[in-house]
Parts: sequence; structure tokens; C-alpha cells
Amino acid sequence: MAESEKPKIGIFSLTGCGGDQLMILNMEPVLLELLSRFDIKDFQEGSSYKEEGELDIALVEGSVSTKTDLERLKEIRERSKMLIAIGDCAISGCVQAMRNGQMSMAERMKKVYGVDEDYYDVLEPKGLSSYVKVDLEIPGCPIEKDEILHAITSLLHGDMPEGIDYPVCVECKLNGYPCVLVEKGMPCLGPLITAGCNARCPGLGLDCIGCRGPIPEEANVAAEVKVLLEKGYDEKYIFNRLRFFGGNFEDVQNLTKKFSEKTEKEEEE
Ligand code: SF4
Ligand code: SF4
Repeated sequence: MAESEKPKIGIFSLTGCGGDQLMILNMEPVLLELLSRFDIKDFQEGSSYKEEGELDIALVEGSVSTKTDLERLKEIRERSKMLIAIGDCAISGCVQAMRNGQMSMAERMKKVYGVDEDYYDVLEPKGLSSYVKVDLEIPGCPIEKDEILHAITSLLHGDMPEGIDYPVCVECKLNGYPCVLVEKGMPCLGPLITAGCNARCPGLGLDCIGCRGPIPEEANVAAEVKVLLEKGYDEKYIFNRLRFFGGNFEDVQNLTKKFSEKTEKEEEE
């Protein structure tokens, strides 16, 4: 196929660790074959070559955490027919969203360094869909190689891949793994978290820390908190755990807010 007939693709990073682009580069057995199907216009971790202009597909990792990120995202959206958020940072802000709703960077500078300065162009870290239309979200921290491969090959065939709307527990049960929450009392977040990792952690006897993020509009955060409280975990531990990958989820924010207000009141008394 001539270069000009191939779909034009760009793979971009905003604020994050770059792990999702690395996962694409780590797909060695299929990488060259896969990339040969595209006309690659930008792939920060793969090549220094860059070309401006219209794109058929933009894959974007990283959260919008600065005004610079936001400008860049808008430019990418403008030039792309399809925009795909890859990884939790791009979907929900991920670990950098833990600080959201707490205090501004200027307040933090004051509290930590005692200076009245606001050096950074920071925003509260958020996913791409808070600012622009996103056509598809592929979760993970980092993304799963099989999932991104499936998504890209589906798109090459003109199909839109379906998202996953069931929890890690489903894959855990399908694999026949013992439940570490029920049997060992470990603080597993599997009931809240989007499946797709084949229940990797419970399969290793570990509890899920939620790296694929809560299932949008499905995760029952209050029920999980109740179970973990009954298992003897304290509220602070539970809320910090939930905020690790769920800082921008409304139910997590509401529960955290209630908890902070209660703690402040207790401290005043
Ligand atoms: S171990 Fe975790 S993911 Fe597996 S069934 Fe239990 S709660 Fe769900
Ligand atoms: S089990 Fe949970 S923490 Fe482990 S890979 Fe899957 S979603 Fe991430």
C-alpha cells in the first residue's frame, strides 16, 4: 500500500510517565507489521520524525495537567478525525489526580515552602474528555498490549472496538481464582475496577489496587467502602486507596470530601 493511502496516525504524550507509548514499543513480535499499516506522523517515543497536518487517528496518553497540555490537546483534536485516549492518565487523570480537590499549587507552595509564588502553569489533572471529544478510551496503567492491538486492528478494519463495562471480579471468577477479599480479607478493589487485565493481581494472590480505574457510572463505591470497613480497614486508608486511581471519580470525591470534613471537625473538637 502506498504511504499516501495508509491511515495517518500520531501517538502523543501529555503529562504522564510515557508507559503507554512504551507498551506499544514493547509489542515486538507484531510491532513492525502493525506500524507498516500506518503512515506515522508523530510518535514521540519511537522516532524524532514529526510532520504537521491532518491525522486519521491520534492516540494520546497522559493527563491534562498544565495549560500547555491543554493547548496541545486542542491542537491534536483539531487535526485528528479520531482521538483515542490511551491509559488511565488520559481517561481520568490517574495518580496525579490524587491531589485534586485538596489545595491549589499556590497554596501548596505556601504550605511546603512558605513562599507566595505560583511558578507553574498547572491545572487540576484531568482526563482528555473533560476538555475535548474523545472517540474511544483504552484503560490501564499502563495499557494492555492485547487490548491496544485489538483496538488498532479493529480500527484498521473500519470497526469501532467495544469498551469493557464489567469488573475485574468477572475475570477473576472466570479464571477460578480464590477471592483474596473474601478468603484473606485483603483490600481488593476488583469489584469497582474495569476488567481487561485478566485479573492479573488476584491471579498472583495479590489484591487489585485499581490500576484500570473504576468502571464509569457502574462502580458502587459506597458498597466497597462498607465491605472494607467491615474487614477492619480504617477510613483514611480506604479513601487514600480509592483516590490512588480514582481521584476524579465523583463518588470517590464525594466520600473523600465527607471524610475530610468529619476529620477536620474531630480535630477542632
Ligand atoms: S479477589 Fe478481588 S477481583 Fe477477585 S473476586 Fe475477589 S474482590 Fe473480585
Ligand atoms: S488486578 Fe487490578 S491492579 Fe492488577 S492489573 Fe488488574 S486492574 Fe490493575
